[in-house]
Amino acid sequence: MKHWITGGGVSALHLVFARVFDDDGTELGIGGFIAVRGETPGLRIGDREPTMGLRGIPETQVFFDDMEIGDDMVLMPPSGFAKGFGDLMNAYNTQRIGAGTVALGLAAGAHARAIEHAKTREQFDRPIAEFQGLQWMLADMSTKLEAARSLIYRAAASRGDGGASPFPDATLAAQAKLFTSEAAIGIVSDALQIFGAAGYSRNNPLERMYRDVRMFTIGGGTAQILRTVIASRVLDRRLPQTRDGYVAR
Ligand SMILES: Cc1cc2nc3c(=O)[nH]c(=O)nc-3n(C[C@H](O)[C@H](O)[C@H](O)COP(=O)(O)OP(=O)(O)OC[C@H]3O[C@@H](n4cnc5c(N)ncnc54)[C@H](O)[C@@H]3O)c2cc1C
Repeated sequence: MKHWITGGGVSALHLVFARVFDDDGTELGIGGFIAVRGETPGLRIGDREPTMGLRGIPETQVFFDDMEIGDDMVLMPPSGFAKGFGDLMNAYNTQRIGAGTVALGLAAGAHARAIEHAKTREQFDRPIAEFQGLQWMLADMSTKLEAARSLIYRAAASRGDGGASPFPDATLAAQAKLFTSEAAIGIVSDALQIFGAAGYSRNNPLERMYRDVRMFTIGGGTAQILRTVIASRVLDRRLPQTRDGYVAR
């Protein structure tokens, strides 16, 4: 069983990565397989996760009850740790830029709403945009937004750099997702602050954006794991997280 599968119960096609063993129980590596909802025997969708935000798309459990697939459903043969699993990790570099882009969009939307509100909401007989405390918040938010946007563009443009790889550079993709997700959480939080109590109301989209954006340092590579990925590239060495390193594999 695997839980937290985005689009579970909606997607027909499932790309499943699993460890493969030969008949003697020797592990051959991790392979990639296709299973089709409603067609592949044993593929079953479980409960939907009651998520804090991002409720426009479900996350569900997916069960593999003695699931059987034909040879034609083997997409990536399990030719060792560096192959099937390596390809999956490379594909994640694209996904990370995508996740960062969604976080960037949320932050940009929150920032635009905060500017509009600051210009129109009046306190002490002045628009609150005239208070330097809020001006500096808006300035910092816009600076972080531009930095995040630049990182995402640069990571996206790195696709295929220096070789035949169709995937973006792993370091740039990790940096773009890490910085953008953390910046976006701060920007949306500050935008909500600028709305005061109105930002805390469920009638205001900021409340939903705040819940939605919180996911982006978790799914698709946590902020901590992304830092390890970046450190590994910066130091040019593997950084095994298990006590016995990768020896067991
Ligand atoms: C909305 C949403 C959608 C998702 N969609 C999918 C999906 O479609 N498919 C899918 O497979 N998964 C999906 N996930 C799962 C997601 O990939 C995991 O939640 C994520 O990888 C973290 O794993 P975990 O939740 O088990 O946290 P854990 O691994 O239990 O980590 C808990 C905490 O410990 C930290 N931590 C763990 N190991 C280390 C380490 N070595 N060094 C430092 N810190 C560490 C983590 O960063 C985290 O802060 C989704 C999650 C969410 C929230």
